[in-house]
Parts: sequence; structure tokens; C-alpha cells
Amino acid sequence: GIATPDKPEPPLDAGDDARDLFSKFDPIIKQRQDLLDSGLEDPFGLVMERVLSPVTAVCNGRETILLGTYNYMGMTFDPEVIEAGKRALDDFGAGTTGSRVLNGTYVGHKEVEKALCDFYGMDHAIVFSTGYQANLGIISTIAGKGDYIVLDIDSHASIWDGCKMGDAEVVPFKHNDIEAMDKRLGRIPEGAGKLVVLEGVYSMLGDIAPLREMIAVAKRHGAMVLVDEAHSMGFIGPNGRGVAEDQGCLDDVDFIIGTFSKSVGTVGGFCVSNHPKFEIMRLVCRPYVFTASLPPSVVATAATSIRKLMHAGDKRAHLWENSKRMHAGLKTLGFQLGTDEPQSAIIAVIMPDLERGAAMWEALLQEGLYVNLARPPATPANMTLLRCSLCAEHTEEQVGDILVMFEAAGKAVGII
Ligand code: PMP
Repeated sequence: GIATPDKPEPPLDAGDDARDLFSKFDPIIKQRQDLLDSGLEDPFGLVMERVLSPVTAVCNGRETILLGTYNYMGMTFDPEVIEAGKRALDDFGAGTTGSRVLNGTYVGHKEVEKALCDFYGMDHAIVFSTGYQANLGIISTIAGKGDYIVLDIDSHASIWDGCKMGDAEVVPFKHNDIEAMDKRLGRIPEGAGKLVVLEGVYSMLGDIAPLREMIAVAKRHGAMVLVDEAHSMGFIGPNGRGVAEDQGCLDDVDFIIGTFSKSVGTVGGFCVSNHPKFEIMRLVCRPYVFTASLPPSVVATAATSIRKLMHAGDKRAHLWENSKRMHAGLKTLGFQLGTDEPQSAIIAVIMPDLERGAAMWEALLQEGLYVNLARPPATPANMTLLRCSLCAEHTEEQVGDILVMFEAAGKAVGII
């Protein structure tokens, strides 16, 4: 409360807790403390002391295989990518110190946008400082007052936050449920603007969306369609354009959202589109306008990486082999997995609870393997997951070693 002459501040010792804005975090503080008190290492506080390659790093002084990165195509250490970044640092400096619409557009930003247009075969590309901001900006800007956003309930946090930031009505439907989506769309008032938001690959369980059918339904209702292809870019589809390309429906997608923080191997986000008025986003989209643009070295590495990903068929094939081998191996060992068949480079191993998930995570780390521990609210249905993501640079031998480590840890923790 605000102290006024007729309403004095309550004494400090009364209701102190209620006035501490941090008291709302007490349940999660307790949960975290209980976990640490049980003697486990903090699964969300790991430090990479050195990074040796796209698939190995030093953690706690020991060489560790990385199976929990989004470095699907292993581009982070590509010599041409690194060279392009160094050159841009020398020629353009460490940062732009400005917005894209003021002093923050360098030739490198235009070059990476051109690389994206070429990669997707689309007319327009706008680069944001992260993929999170791309979703935040595009969704909140294109769907406004009186419009409706119809989205999968398992959508990424950045999609939900984009919905929250805008003024549209938000209508979720059950994950990957075409009929439920159809029904929600059917109930929207005649004449209202509609945006359907889908993802190619859902990053928690590694499952893909039936985009072809879903987009056909969306179009029948006159909706525009946005697909977040963050986890499929570079890998899925004949040219690595994503699940929509793979299912032959890329031409029906109005907006593709993507990121440089996964297959591209650096940081940044983007939206590509064929909409004739798309360029106006550069003036009206606040998360594009009111933030500094990416550093020159980042856009240079991204552009080089994207152009290389256009010709990475061999890497794509090897990543599929790795993903299939890992999925089959884990299944044979008796682990419960997020999908019956491998659908992407993400393989989610379902843990019985957070305690055993954290214990398994630590047992793997001690053997020299890093995976992602994922838990609510990031995960659907309150699941605790050990999320494994394969890289095109993992060797067949490493995949074998990883399976041996999973078997040992799984038995030690009593999960298999
Ligand atoms: N969309 C999806 C589906 C994601 O998984 C992520 C990141 N995990 C993002 C968007 C955000 O990407 P960025 O890391 O570039 O902010």
C-alpha cells in the first residue's frame, strides 16, 4: 500500500512476508533447496569450462559428450563460419550499438536476410536479435484487437508470450489434434482475422506436427498460418527448410519463424514470408524496433552457416542415422521415450519423477555425458524428461558409448 496521512504504513514487523515481492517464489525455492539438500548437483547450474567441439566440452574438469545442445548440424566450429565471424569483428567491430531502424543495419544484416530468402525460396526475411523476440514480435503485431490466435496448447513459451503481449483473443487446442483445431476455428465469429500458430517439431517430446492436414484445415477457415520451425531448420526436409517442406506444404505457410541458435549455430531469430506487405513489420513490430541489432560477427557467422546448410545433404543423412540408432538403442534398453519412432533429432527419455530424473541426470554427467533435464512448466503433462538431442557431428562410436552410459546410469538409478 501507499502511505498517506489517513492511511499510515503498517509497522515493518507486521505482514513483512506479504510485502516481499519474492514470497511468491517460495514453493520453487523450497523445491530447489530440497533437491540440492539431497546431495545432487544443481542440474540448472552446470558450467562448460571449455568447449572442445560441437559434441564435446569440459564440465567439472572432465571431458564430456554433449547430447543436450541444439547444435544439430554442428556448425558452431565450422572453419568457414568462424573465419567469417573473425573477419566481421575486424572490419565492423564488436557491436552495432543501435536498433535496426536507426544505426544498427550493416551490410551483414542485409546479407543474412538475403541468405534466408534464398534458403527458404521466399520473398522477405526479417532478422530479430533472438528467436524468442521473433515470435514475441510477429505474433503480437500481426494479430491485433478483434483478431483470433488459434494455437497448439504445447506451444513454446515465446509463442505464448507473443500472444500475451498482443491484443488478440487466444484460443488453444489439444496438442496436434486436427479436429479440435477445426472446431475452435469454426466457432470464431464471421469476418474476424485468424492466425493459426503451429510448430514443425515440438521441442519437449521431439514429435512433429501433421502440418499438411492442419494447414489445409486452417486455410479452409480462411486463417493465416505461422509455423515455428526452430528445431527442424537445416535438418528436416530435402533442403532443410523444415517439416512444412518435408510434408510438401511450405507454399501454404504465411510466416515461418526460426532461430540461429540451433542448426545455424549462433544466436538470432527470423521470420520469412511471401506476404506482399511483410516489410512494414520493420516499422510496427516493437521487439524489432526497440532493441539493438545483432553484432556484425553474429550475422556474418549466421549468413555463412545458412548458405552451407543449403548443401548439407550428407550431414542431414548422418543426423538421421544417429537419431534412429539412438532411439532404437534406448528403446531396446527399456527406456520410455517421447515418441514411438524417431521423428526429429530430439529424443525425450521420460523419467518417473523429478527426483529420479535429477539422479539419472547426475549419474550420466559423472560418466561423462550431458543431456538436458527438462521439467514443468517447460514440459507437457507435468513430465520430467531427459532430453537428448543428436548432432550431425556425433560419430557412430559416440552413439554406442552414449548407449552404454545410459544403460549403466539407468540401472544404477533403478529406472530400467
Ligand atoms: N521457438 C522454439 C520452438 C524454441 O524451442 C525456441 C528456443 N528453444 C525458440 C523459439 C527461441 O529461440 P531463441 O533461442 O533464438 O530465442
